[in-house]
Amino acid sequence: MIFRTRFAPSPTGPLHLGHAYSALLAHDMATAEGGAFHLRIDDIDQSRARTEWEALIFEDLNWLGLSWPEPAWRQSSRVPRYREALETLWDQGLLYPCTCSRADIRAASSAPQEGAPLHGPDGIVYPGTCRPHTPPNGPMPDTALRLDMSQALARLSAPLTFDETGAGPGGESGNITPEGMPHLVGDVALARPGMGASYHLSIVIDDSDQDITHVIRGQDLFAATQIHVLLQRLLGLPTPIYHHHRLIRDDTGKRLAKRDDARSLATYRDAGKTPSDIRAMVGL
Ligand code: GLU
Ligand code: ZN
Repeated sequence: MIFRTRFAPSPTGPLHLGHAYSALLAHDMATAEGGAFHLRIDDIDQSRARTEWEALIFEDLNWLGLSWPEPAWRQSSRVPRYREALETLWDQGLLYPCTCSRADIRAASSAPQEGAPLHGPDGIVYPGTCRPHTPPNGPMPDTALRLDMSQALARLSAPLTFDETGAGPGGESGNITPEGMPHLVGDVALARPGMGASYHLSIVIDDSDQDITHVIRGQDLFAATQIHVLLQRLLGLPTPIYHHHRLIRDDTGKRLAKRDDARSLATYRDAGKTPSDIRAMVGL
């Protein structure tokens, strides 16, 4: 069996125990299957990515004893490829430009008649302010671009499902309910101004171009997977097998975040912990 997986951290802060668990688990699963483990730097958001954090990712993973084929892919060098995929969706009439700021979106979704703003995998569900009645034509603009979710779903000819060997946060499997997506996910942004492509688009293209067969990642990304599978269908790309794993929590049960510097791998390393201590701490 061919098994190619990847660990795709964003260089926006120090890696913590949750990242260590994800990377070690992916590496262990690949090793057990005689497969490959790739490192990919998710630095598409150049406003938040820092080279210092990227350097620390390499240092931390090397320290943990992990290795991967060099050079690691970096999203910032693949923007033309993402734009090409966006053009495909644009030509299909599935994208439209959006000029709303975050504040506009918040204001439109908290209008009294709307009730409490609905949160989806991307934060507040976009209220559709800029959605045109007929698909825009002409050249694709260099603005934020959103996917017309209802139109996109209408193009599907087969049920939207994926193979899940882990589980979602509530024990979910890989059955997607497309009828709920326009309301619960909404018109997601696939390109943002100053950022060639959004996270959703870039990782879907990368996973396909890198022939990733197994995506192993935290349950916090389970809700985004329906978007990824939809994009794979629209772009004619294969859907990998997904394995969403448990999240590492602190003593109070809260999920670890990048800002929890106290629990960063570098802090544990500096305090004299060993890679086997880290494995024990995350239950591997
Ligand atoms: N870069 C993403 C993150 O740090 C992970 C992307 C993925 O595994 O799909 O959360
Ligand atoms: Zn808009």
